[in-house]
Amino acid sequence: MLRMADSIDPASLPAGMDAYAGYNDGRWPDYQAIAAAHPGSHLLDFSVFLKDPGTGGDFEPGDMDPSQVVAYVQGEHARGVARPVVYASIASEMPACVANLSAAGIAWPAGYRRLSAHYGAGQHICGPSTCGYATQCDGTQWIDHATDLHQNWDESLLNDNFFDTASPIGGDMLTFRPNNAYRCDLGYVFAGNLWHAWSPDGMGSFASGQAALENWGAPQGREVIEVVGFSWDQEGVGLNAFVLCDDGLVYGQWWDITGKGSGWSQSHWNNGGTPTTIAAQAGTAGPKGDPGPAGDPNPALKAALAAAAASVGA
Ligand SMILES: [Zn+2]
Repeated sequence: MLRMADSIDPASLPAGMDAYAGYNDGRWPDYQAIAAAHPGSHLLDFSVFLKDPGTGGDFEPGDMDPSQVVAYVQGEHARGVARPVVYASIASEMPACVANLSAAGIAWPAGYRRLSAHYGAGQHICGPSTCGYATQCDGTQWIDHATDLHQNWDESLLNDNFFDTASPIGGDMLTFRPNNAYRCDLGYVFAGNLWHAWSPDGMGSFASGQAALENWGAPQGREVIEVVGFSWDQEGVGLNAFVLCDDGLVYGQWWDITGKGSGWSQSHWNNGGTPTTIAAQAGTAGPKGDPGPAGDPNPALKAALAAAAASVGA
């Protein structure tokens, strides 16, 4: 996890943080001063007005309104920011921002990052497995260090991959049953989630971008680092995935494409492969994985997958 500090007073920012944030515009345009003072750290520039570019957008009362969030994110995409940061309070603007982006077909996490504000619940990143907020976030501003005249800054906790802007395809795309006649499956990591793509007719559909695609998410609100295993069960009806998450544990996901089984992650293992915990986890049952629906939740990712699949070969 990363710690980020922001302030309207650059001089009050502490040293040694992983990341620093400031403003491009508004009453306290301090980003340039903050960037100059912390050159070795991750930096995040926010704007409060739709007219001004900003890697992050501030959706607080008096700043941008949730009705502007789609235009903001589309504007950032247009200038090459793949995943702009939407900052809002979970108690007020964040729900409307998320709803408006979803209605516009802008997917999370591929299309934007969520930086929530949630004070009074300790150091955490908002999500179902932490504070109980139903919408998983990428980072949370959780405390205001306004203890005296020299302490005037806010602190956020961010996922380790918050600043990753590399290729959307993880480096560990893993094939199962690659052939030219039967069902094929791929598992890969994108933005901390496990994705599954499949085709009913061999690898050709991957190379042509026709494979179906679904997001399996991440167990317990963690980030998936890599896929470490991928197999069918003995009956051939359940597709099982094993993923390494950012807490250093390998999680198993027992998948059941026929709907006979439970679906989401049930257990996790330590890195040595020895079962250490067998416990049912509360989770959301995933979609059924029968081959073939033409639905395409993420055309850009699918195109990148097609290019990567072409290099895997049949
Ligand atoms: Zn929270």
